[in-house]
Amino acid sequence: MLTKEELEAVYKKFDDDKIVKLAMDESKSLREDAVPILEQEIIRRNLDDKLLEWIKWERNFFKGAELESIKAVIKNSQCTECGGKDSEIKGFNIHYYSMFDSTFDANIIVCERCGKRARKKSYIKTATLGWISFYGIISVPLYFIGEIIASFSRENTSKEIIESFIFENTGLIREYGIENIRDLIYNSNLVQMKSDEITE
Ligand SMILES: [Zn+2]
Repeated sequence: MLTKEELEAVYKKFDDDKIVKLAMDESKSLREDAVPILEQEIIRRNLDDKLLEWIKWERNFFKGAELESIKAVIKNSQCTECGGKDSEIKGFNIHYYSMFDSTFDANIIVCERCGKRARKKSYIKTATLGWISFYGIISVPLYFIGEIIASFSRENTSKEIIESFIFENTGLIREYGIENIRDLIYNSNLVQMKSDEITE
């Protein structure tokens, strides 16, 4: 691990774009003592003050009672997919195996009904298109065995997906407020679903 002095030297060498990118995208994951060094660099270079504010938002992590209350808001929010409010909102890992050994993997936050529907669709895709692959004969059965194993930990997966969503969106939730969390869920689902089929 770099010492504080080494880290200062590294940040000094970065160009402005890299400092902005670090502040915008990675300040959440920085180690505690790196944050003041980054802030100093922003001030020294006269970069936009808003970056300092953003870092504060991003690192103002949700914990304890506040975290629990956000989870409760998400759980009872309106589904971004069907607009329904009567089925609990959960985190779902949707993945399938498709043609030519391509795979799809997304973590979405939707109501139980929409999540189950998406999972069913991914089973059908795997069971049909998955065979049109060089490794289909191995990968398709492995996929379904994996699904059986995954079914034992669905509640836990849902909890992890929601916690990770809250962490990833710390700054945005701070900025826009918990009352607008549905828009952030909508965006997050959109980004996840766009990750498209990746050919390995
Ligand atoms: Zn729904």
